[in-house]
Amino acid sequence: MPSDRAKDNKALVATCVACGKSVSTESAVALAGVEEGRRKQFVACVACANNGWRPPGFTGVYAPRPT
Ligand SMILES: [Zn+2]
Repeated sequence: MPSDRAKDNKALVATCVACGKSVSTESAVALAGVEEGRRKQFVACVACANNGWRPPGFTGVYAPRPT
């Protein structure tokens, strides 16, 4: 049976963890953070990332992208 994940990939949409909006994967970025002691990728829309949103435990560098 088709998994929900495969369906999401086909639709190319992601949910921004910062604002909760559904955005296309082209206007989302995955930022590495830490949740409950584990490293995890947090998907945020470019608008939130450009506004300075970072996941907990973020240690990388984010270069703002044009929206
Ligand atoms: Zn957002």
